[in-house]
Formats: sequence, structure tokens, C-alpha cells
Amino acid sequence: MTQVLVVNSGSSSIKYRLLDLPSGHAVAKGAVERIGESEGLLTHRGPAGEVERREPVADHAAGMRAMLAAFAEAGPDLAAVHLAAVGHRVVHGGERFTAPTLVTDEVCEVIASLSDLAPLHNPANLKGIQVAREVFPDVPHVAVFDTAFHATLPPHAHTYAVPREWRAEYGVRRYGFHGTSHAYVSRMSARLLDCGPADVNVIVLHLGNGASVSAVRGGVCVETSMGLTPLEGLVMGTRSGDVDPGVIFHLRRAAGLTVDDLDDALNRRSGLLGLSGVNDMRELIKLIDNGDEDARLALDVYCHRVRKYVGAYMAVLGHTDAVVFTAGVGENNARVREHALTGLGDLGVRLDHDRNERGGPVISAPGSPVTVLVVPTDEELEIATQALALVS
Ligand code: AMP
Repeated sequence: MTQVLVVNSGSSSIKYRLLDLPSGHAVAKGAVERIGESEGLLTHRGPAGEVERREPVADHAAGMRAMLAAFAEAGPDLAAVHLAAVGHRVVHGGERFTAPTLVTDEVCEVIASLSDLAPLHNPANLKGIQVAREVFPDVPHVAVFDTAFHATLPPHAHTYAVPREWRAEYGVRRYGFHGTSHAYVSRMSARLLDCGPADVNVIVLHLGNGASVSAVRGGVCVETSMGLTPLEGLVMGTRSGDVDPGVIFHLRRAAGLTVDDLDDALNRRSGLLGLSGVNDMRELIKLIDNGDEDARLALDVYCHRVRKYVGAYMAVLGHTDAVVFTAGVGENNARVREHALTGLGDLGVRLDHDRNERGGPVISAPGSPVTVLVVPTDEELEIATQALALVS
């Protein structure tokens, strides 16, 4: 039995899963949340039961110790498990990391140096790596980057039309994110279409709290909606997605907002939240059903943006075999799927209402030139698979 521990370390949380490969079975999973706050929360589910504990967790090292204690309590005993690898999610790999990478001191230094591009994520990812390397010194640690799947974007797709020195000296280009999800879901979609990844062109709509879309031609990502940072593209829970950069200059001059104010507003107070007061799609739907006009507009803006990207990416691909929905909203919300694809019939995207309500995997009408699919994403499984492939 081969087991891989996947660690997703955020600024105030460590989420983890112990996976058995190749079955993909989750032997145990859990999360340590609210690290550094007055009361932390640990939840763990293992073969011997569940653990839930509320106590202060001072830092990531304490979080890792809490995780180990939960394994000791509800299993499995990590000392008795032969870990083939620890796979770490790292958000930004810059131009340096375009594939899963064995963690060394030098790799840690480069991940740290990329923090300018992902200040909220890379330092937190790195903390998780550092404490896990201390706890599991004899196990190979593999960094799996959110940006890596998009490293194949051709220059005309990843280049911003901005001054040369910005591009040359400051790494200003499009990188794309959610790569492990887009990689996994595009591969699974090919399988559902009974083809190899090399034989299909798919558009993957990852609609979660963060949201992004990618165009994958023959297994190779050729376009994606997120850019230098995860702010560009679709409307998200709290992020604006595309806005005219002129908005920033206008508010800087007219309202005196600082760069930090604007960063905070566009990343944390915009999107569905900025439009309706709620960032969660389920809450938004409840508001709409109670007649809330702001919520209705928020859904219209959200779905219009998705539709616009689907049309654009069909143009990029030339021929599209499938449009695929994934992540929290994409997998669960038939209303969003239907609304977003309305009017694309003449482009060959024809949804079947009943199939869509039933949830898939195929939700297009029989004979629709473009198949529409719902495919659950599994980023942890993809990280574990990629980490294992590297070490074996
Ligand atoms: P994620 O980031 O993938 O966990 O997705 C979070 C988003 O998915 C939130 O906006 C949730 O409201 C939405 N979501 C999760 N489950 C459902 C569901 N059953 N119905 C509608 N939306 C859902």
C-alpha cells in the first residue's frame, strides 16, 4: 500500500489528507484552522473515529503537532505508515517551477523569493513545508504548484501588453492558478468522453469561492482566466475578476484610496460580496428567492462573465469537445450552470434541463455538438498523484 500525505497550508490553517494510491481512498483527513487566533479548531477523521478540538494553536508548528496528535488519537498511527511522499500545495511557482519539484533548501528559498507575486499564499505554503520537513525528515517532500499546469500558455496568451521593463524585471505576465484542479478535471473529462487527453479540447470552469476557466487543447493548457495574481477573470466570492485598471487610478485620485485599500477592496470586498452582501452562492440564491434585486444582479453579472469566457475560449480552441463544470458552485448549482450557458445553443452548447437538474456527469442534450459535463474536482488527489509520480 502506498500512502501520500497532502498538506495545504494557508495563512491561518493547515488542511491535510492521507491518501492511499492508486485507489485515491482518503485514509484520514482534517484541518487545523484559526491558527494564531484566540481559539483554534482542529477537526480530524480517521479509521478510529473523529476528533474535534477547540484550543489555541499558536503557529504552524503547533498546528502540525496538533495534526500529529489527532492522527495518534483517531488513526492511522503515522509512525507505522510508510509515507511515500508528502505533497505540498504551493500557489505561485513563477517562471521557475513548471512541474512538481522535490523540496530542498534551495527550492524553499526560491518559493520565498516568489512571495512578492503571492504575498497571501507563498509565505503560508512555505511555513507548512518547513514544519512538515522537521516532522518528517526522512520522507521526500514535493511541492506541487497551482501555476504549473498553465506553464504551457503560449506567449500570445501569457503576455500583457505593458512596458518591456515591467515584464523583464518584475515578472509581470499571466501565470494562471487552480492548475491542479484544471489538470485533474480536464483529464477526467477526456476519460468520460472515452478518449485520451491528447484527443480532446475542453473548457474547464472551476467555479468555487475562487473561480477560473481554462482552455485545454489535447491535454495542454492554452488559455486561462487568472493572471499575474488570482484576481483576474471571472467574478468570484469576494474578488472582482476583470475590471478596467483605470478604476484603480480613478479611485486613487477621486477617493484618495491607498494601494492597500484598493487591494483589500478588489480581493476581499468585491465579487458576489460587493454586489450583494454575501459571498456564498447558497446564500445568494436564498436572497434571490426572497426577491432581493442586488442578489439577482450579482448572479446575472456572474453568469454573464462565465458565458463571455466560454464563448471566447471556444474561439481560442477552434473546436471544442466539452465544457466542464467543477468546484463548489460548478458541481452543485444547476441554476448557475443553466443561466451561464443560456444562449450558447447556436455555438453548439445545448444543455438538457433534466440532466442538469440531476447533476451529470453528462448534462448536455443528446446530439449537442459540444458535450457539457459536471466533473467533481479533487486537488488533493492530483497533488498526491503528481508527488508520487515524481518520487517513484
Ligand atoms: P469551493 O471553493 O469549491 O469550496 O466552493 C465554494 C462555493 O460553492 C460557495 O459559494 C458555496 O456556496 C458553493 N456551494 C457549495 N455547495 C453548494 C451547493 N450544494 N449548492 C450551491 N452552491 C454550493
